[in-house]
Amino acid sequence: MNLVSSLEKIKGVGPKVAQQFADAGLLTVGDLINFLPRAHEDYSAVTRIIDIAPGKRTIKAKCEKITTRPVRRGLRITTATLADDSGKLQAVWFNQPYRETQLKSGEEFFFSGEFEFNYNRYQLTNPSAERVSDMPVQTDRVLPIYRSIKGLKTPLVRKILAELKPLITMLPESLPEDIIKSEKLLSRSQAILAMHFPKTVEDIEKARERLAFEELFELLLASQLNRQENSKLEGWHIPFNQPVVKNFVEKLPFKLTNAQRLAVWEIIQDFERKVPMNRLLQGDVGAGKTVVAGIGALQAAHGGFQTALMAPTEILATQHAETLLKLLSPFNIRVGLLTGSVKGVARRNLYEAIKTGEVDVVIGTHALIQETVHFHKLGFVVIDEQHRFGVSQRQELLKKSDFMPHMLAMTATPIPRSLALTVYGELDISILNELPKGRLPITTKIWSPNSRAQLYTLIDEQIKAGRQAYVICTLIDNNSDNELKSVQNEYKKLQNSIFKHRRIGLLHGKMKSDEKDAVMSRFASGELDILVSTTVVEVGVDVPNATVMLIEDADRFGLSQLHQLRGRVGRSIHQSYCYLVTSTSDKPSVRLKEIEKSNDGFYLAEVDLKLRGPGEIYGRAQHGALNLQIATLADTRLIARVKNEAKLFVESGQNLLKYKQLATNVQHYQRLTTLN
Ligand code: ADP
Ligand code: MG
Repeated sequence: MNLVSSLEKIKGVGPKVAQQFADAGLLTVGDLINFLPRAHEDYSAVTRIIDIAPGKRTIKAKCEKITTRPVRRGLRITTATLADDSGKLQAVWFNQPYRETQLKSGEEFFFSGEFEFNYNRYQLTNPSAERVSDMPVQTDRVLPIYRSIKGLKTPLVRKILAELKPLITMLPESLPEDIIKSEKLLSRSQAILAMHFPKTVEDIEKARERLAFEELFELLLASQLNRQENSKLEGWHIPFNQPVVKNFVEKLPFKLTNAQRLAVWEIIQDFERKVPMNRLLQGDVGAGKTVVAGIGALQAAHGGFQTALMAPTEILATQHAETLLKLLSPFNIRVGLLTGSVKGVARRNLYEAIKTGEVDVVIGTHALIQETVHFHKLGFVVIDEQHRFGVSQRQELLKKSDFMPHMLAMTATPIPRSLALTVYGELDISILNELPKGRLPITTKIWSPNSRAQLYTLIDEQIKAGRQAYVICTLIDNNSDNELKSVQNEYKKLQNSIFKHRRIGLLHGKMKSDEKDAVMSRFASGELDILVSTTVVEVGVDVPNATVMLIEDADRFGLSQLHQLRGRVGRSIHQSYCYLVTSTSDKPSVRLKEIEKSNDGFYLAEVDLKLRGPGEIYGRAQHGALNLQIATLADTRLIARVKNEAKLFVESGQNLLKYKQLATNVQHYQRLTTLN
């Protein structure tokens, strides 16, 4: 038996069990060895019920009574009375009705969970349960918990893994030996043994450290290597034209913030170098990223180069085109807009102008990366809301130049420091950590659906004062029986009753582009008081006179999405408000409370990272395959250690190909995280 053997080679695994593993994606002995526990339960410290105090606790008890009742759609609560010889307590599970069948037998179980105040009494919440008779004797009752596999009970999975112990003991090392030594890490085989068959909690910690180190090492080595490769590329030299930039900045209707000045300066310096710029501009919503990109475009045009700015939606591309046209055309820079709705002769003419260099700055959606688009001399590429694009889309755009153009990726979803160090390690970063002067913090309130009338009064007062409001719903249309709000229904409701005397617009993704543009520009010019919209306005839309953002069913949105939506207001000197209306009158989620508390996108990004993990935040396109099983990007200390070792490894000039498995994984990450 070896790592590529089929599972049926293992004692106790027949065709049926093998198929069940296969359905879960585990085909070989090696797959099973790498099927690491998602957690461990420590049943070694058992508390008697009579002595129990709040906190994470384990008890050894029998289940005396257990019932399940539906509370509302989508929520079933199972309650049980658990007893040992010292007393009784109550346990609750949410949506785990199978607990009834599991526990009814009357056998003795270990229960481990949070003992806390919940539903007006102290209870053990969502405890795990392990039959005492299943508990392996040789361990300290620290048990691996595996991701569940349909049809397979955990004790069986543990037994099958026990058969592989001799093989695991002989697993080859995958990290360079000198790193194992200098970082005092367990060997690969020691670590995997400890994960599957831990003796103590300390064992697991050391094992996790080693495995997390390896995962991060692959990721960081990849970004170091990407950085090294970038630095060997030759880029366009775009000279700094000081009088032009100075004149432009002086004529702006506002004064640049210091953060904007610094970012502009960093870009201008990168333009002067031989190496193509590879820069991420991070700035909270409303920080003023567009004008920074605009100055870059101005500079590029004066050096004889074209700029391409790609935005994720038509609304946004159109808005950028309007802004940049206003900013740049007085300086004889020619701006063009290419989206799906530019058709026929106009489109052909634009293609021609891009090809001959008659336009300097081309703004567009994905339309920019089509094969029919040829640039005359593309020197500067700007990707707005870069996390909305996949790697390949960015690459397509960069390929439109014979030479690697300078690249500026912009994002309003701030990237936590730890991610910036790992995933984006090859990028230079500019941060706009300062909002333009005079902006007031947005007042955010969680609002119960029962007191909507008061809310409408507040909104009406704002409109009376000359301001405008957004109302956001999750759905376009809602004919089903669920109670989520849809823009169609809300639009009708508001227009026919409460806001009869106001001008209301409707916007959603299924409308034709010219209809969308028309509504958007009526709202922007103040012809509409209220815009009822789906999240198509989520990113980038800039209507400074709007001061109210009402989000219906706010609990249905993610943290960064809520922050983005909120960022549509607070863009002028007027006080702005964001109301988060929940779909039920239940206790609001952590997410909503955090967003109510803080206006700081960087802080919220850290919270989001903790709540959801990196894959969810940065989108499937780039990070779906990040595949960190053990490491968490919140572990900045480990990241610093790993970064150091990765740097030493690159500097030492060692050949990566000497380490076969490592090389494969690193190359995978190199492709995945590169921005070029
Ligand atoms: P974002 O960073 O979210 O993309 P925008 O570039 O859309 O922000 O800018 C938000 C608004 O702030 C725009 O109306 C823009 O004209 C304005 N703005 C940008 N910089 C400044 C500044 N330094 N002072 C005042 N207003 C500014
Ligand atoms: Mg923007």
